[in-house]
Amino acid sequence: MRVFLFGKLSAHAPCAPDHLPYQGLQYSKAEYEDLQASLTRPIGEWNCRHVAYPIVLGVSGTANSKEELAEMERYSNEKIEIDGHEYTRYECTQLQRKLDMEMRKANFSHKAVQVLRFSRRRCIIIK
Ligand SMILES: [Zn+2]
Repeated sequence: MRVFLFGKLSAHAPCAPDHLPYQGLQYSKAEYEDLQASLTRPIGEWNCRHVAYPIVLGVSGTANSKEELAEMERYSNEKIEIDGHEYTRYECTQLQRKLDMEMRKANFSHKAVQVLRFSRRRCIIIK
Protein backbone atom coordinates (compact mmCIF):
# COMPACT_ATOMS: atom_id res chain seq x y z
CA MET A 1 0.00 0.00 0.00
CA ARG A 2 1.29 3.42 -0.95
CA VAL A 3 0.70 5.98 1.75
CA PHE A 4 0.72 9.70 1.02
CA LEU A 5 0.51 12.25 3.73
CA PHE A 6 -1.65 15.06 2.61
CA GLY A 7 -5.08 16.49 3.09
CA LYS A 8 -8.78 16.28 3.34
CA LEU A 9 -10.89 19.35 2.75
CA SER A 10 -13.37 20.31 5.42
CA ALA A 11 -17.04 20.56 4.47
CA HIS A 12 -19.77 23.03 5.38
CA ALA A 13 -23.15 24.27 4.25
CA PRO A 14 -24.05 26.54 2.74
CA CYS A 15 -21.01 26.26 0.51
CA ALA A 16 -20.02 28.38 -2.48
CA PRO A 17 -20.80 26.66 -5.80
CA ASP A 18 -17.18 26.77 -6.97
CA HIS A 19 -15.95 24.71 -3.97
CA LEU A 20 -19.01 22.54 -3.45
CA PRO A 21 -17.86 19.63 -5.67
CA TYR A 22 -14.51 19.40 -3.86
CA GLN A 23 -15.38 19.70 -0.18
CA GLY A 24 -15.08 16.74 2.16
CA LEU A 25 -12.82 14.81 -0.21
CA GLN A 26 -9.27 13.57 0.25
CA TYR A 27 -6.41 14.68 -1.99
CA SER A 28 -2.83 13.69 -2.58
CA LYS A 29 -0.37 16.57 -2.76
CA ALA A 30 -0.35 16.47 -6.59
CA GLU A 31 -4.15 16.29 -6.77
CA TYR A 32 -4.49 19.23 -4.38
CA GLU A 33 -1.99 21.31 -6.36
CA ASP A 34 -3.86 20.52 -9.60
CA LEU A 35 -7.16 21.45 -7.95
CA GLN A 36 -5.77 24.74 -6.66
CA ALA A 37 -4.34 25.59 -10.08
CA SER A 38 -7.69 24.88 -11.74
CA LEU A 39 -9.79 27.08 -9.44
CA THR A 40 -10.40 30.78 -10.12
CA ARG A 41 -10.82 31.22 -6.36
CA PRO A 42 -8.32 28.86 -4.71
CA ILE A 43 -9.20 26.95 -1.55
CA GLY A 44 -8.44 29.06 1.52
CA GLU A 45 -8.70 32.44 -0.19
CA TRP A 46 -11.35 35.15 -0.56
CA ASN A 47 -13.55 34.22 2.37
CA CYS A 48 -13.33 30.49 1.74
CA ARG A 49 -14.03 28.71 4.99
CA HIS A 50 -12.49 25.41 3.88
CA VAL A 51 -9.48 24.01 5.65
CA ALA A 52 -7.20 21.21 4.43
CA TYR A 53 -6.50 18.78 7.28
CA PRO A 54 -3.47 16.50 7.21
CA ILE A 55 -4.31 12.83 6.65
CA VAL A 56 -2.59 9.62 5.70
CA LEU A 57 -4.06 9.04 2.26
CA GLY A 58 -5.31 5.52 1.94
CA VAL A 59 -5.46 5.02 5.71
CA SER A 60 -7.42 7.91 7.20
CA GLY A 61 -11.18 7.61 7.13
CA THR A 62 -13.58 10.21 5.84
CA ALA A 63 -15.14 12.72 8.22
CA ASN A 64 -18.32 13.06 6.17
CA SER A 65 -20.33 10.30 4.51
CA LYS A 66 -21.49 10.64 0.90
CA GLU A 67 -25.00 11.19 2.26
CA GLU A 68 -23.82 14.04 4.50
CA LEU A 69 -22.01 15.69 1.58
CA ALA A 70 -25.10 15.28 -0.62
CA GLU A 71 -27.24 16.88 2.10
CA MET A 72 -24.79 19.81 2.34
CA GLU A 73 -25.05 20.24 -1.44
CA ARG A 74 -28.86 20.11 -1.35
CA TYR A 75 -28.95 22.63 1.53
CA SER A 76 -26.48 24.98 -0.21
CA ASN A 77 -28.56 25.00 -3.41
CA GLU A 78 -31.97 25.16 -1.73
CA LYS A 79 -33.97 28.09 -3.12
CA ILE A 80 -35.24 30.82 -0.83
CA GLU A 81 -37.58 33.60 -1.98
CA ILE A 82 -36.85 37.13 -0.80
CA ASP A 83 -38.89 40.07 -2.09
CA GLY A 84 -40.06 38.08 -5.12
CA HIS A 85 -36.54 36.92 -6.11
CA GLU A 86 -35.22 33.38 -5.72
CA TYR A 87 -31.78 32.87 -4.20
CA THR A 88 -29.87 29.80 -3.12
CA ARG A 89 -29.00 29.58 0.55
CA TYR A 90 -25.40 30.38 -0.38
CA GLU A 91 -26.51 33.46 -2.33
CA CYS A 92 -28.50 34.51 0.76
CA THR A 93 -25.30 34.46 2.82
CA GLN A 94 -23.71 36.76 0.24
CA LEU A 95 -26.70 39.13 0.38
CA GLN A 96 -26.44 39.17 4.17
CA ARG A 97 -22.71 39.90 3.93
CA LYS A 98 -23.40 42.77 1.53
CA LEU A 99 -26.07 44.22 3.85
CA ASP A 100 -23.72 43.91 6.85
CA MET A 101 -21.03 45.79 4.90
CA GLU A 102 -23.48 48.54 3.92
CA MET A 103 -24.59 48.88 7.55
CA ARG A 104 -20.98 49.16 8.70
CA LYS A 105 -20.30 51.81 6.05
CA ALA A 106 -23.43 53.72 7.05
CA ASN A 107 -22.46 53.46 10.71
CA PHE A 108 -18.95 54.66 9.88
CA SER A 109 -20.38 57.53 7.82
CA HIS A 110 -22.68 58.45 10.71
CA LYS A 111 -19.73 58.44 13.10
CA ALA A 112 -17.66 60.46 10.63
CA VAL A 113 -20.42 63.06 10.43
CA GLN A 114 -20.57 63.19 14.24
CA VAL A 115 -16.81 63.74 14.40
CA LEU A 116 -17.00 66.49 11.77
CA ARG A 117 -19.84 68.19 13.66
CA PHE A 118 -17.86 67.93 16.88
CA SER A 119 -14.77 69.30 15.13
CA ARG A 120 -16.81 72.17 13.67
CA ARG A 121 -18.14 73.01 17.14
CA ARG A 122 -14.62 72.90 18.49
CA CYS A 123 -13.53 75.23 15.68
CA ILE A 124 -16.32 77.63 16.57
CA ILE A 125 -15.33 77.54 20.20
CA ILE A 126 -11.68 78.17 19.37
CA LYS A 127 -12.58 81.15 17.21
ZN1 LIG B 1 -14.12 27.10 0.08
